[in-house]
Amino acid sequence: MHEKRLLLGGTFDPIHYGHLRALEEVREALGMGAATLVPAGHPPHRKSPWAPAEHRLAMTRIAAQEAPGLDVLAYEVEHDGPSYTVDTLRNLRETNPEGFFAMVIGMDAFLRFDTWREWEQILDLTHLIVIGRPGWPMAELPEVLRQVLYQRRVEELAQLQTLPGGRIAFHTVTALEISATQIRSLLAGGRSARFLLPDTVLDYIAQHRLYHES
Ligand code: ATP
Repeated sequence: MHEKRLLLGGTFDPIHYGHLRALEEVREALGMGAATLVPAGHPPHRKSPWAPAEHRLAMTRIAAQEAPGLDVLAYEVEHDGPSYTVDTLRNLRETNPEGFFAMVIGMDAFLRFDTWREWEQILDLTHLIVIGRPGWPMAELPEVLRQVLYQRRVEELAQLQTLPGGRIAFHTVTALEISATQIRSLLAGGRSARFLLPDTVLDYIAQHRLYHES
């Protein structure tokens, strides 16, 4: 039996209900029992995240306890040097050459997907499931990604199931306009972030004073 994996990568600085709900809805739509959160170690595409990787991993693990079937892949955090999605997927593929892999990605990230290291290889290694995010219209998609969509897009999530990877599907999830940036800025300003992320993660943030003004 080949392994099936649904992945959501991110800096998770911190993880919030926007991430968790999107993954939950895609997981259910695919009829899968499990999903994997992949916190980035040293994100190459953005300025250094505020919280060190160990804390982001710890928060992701705490959040994963919110639901059965959610697990955390620590590979990128435990890996020395910059972490690239393509390396993580290659590593997973080594033990699951024929497994079904699908990676959830928000529209904001997809619009810049052609700047990711070896992005075309990523598309061969996994399916992509692109979910809308308020304020990030498809119209801004670069030409090169439009062409890729022309070649790889399928209309229904179910069409992904017959192949191990290589296709792109769009899926609509409940739009939750939550971002880690907003949460960091609320906390830095001494304001409440409750109900945007799990209380258990908020407790961890408070305990370690991660985003509060020094
Ligand atoms: P930041 O505000 O620091 O940029 P973020 O909230 O966008 O962070 P990331 O860790 O960068 O969170 O996101 C990881 C993945 O989750 C990306 O593919 C992103 O598009 C997606 N994502 C983040 N927030 C949401 C949300 N509210 N709804 C749907 N997808 C989201």
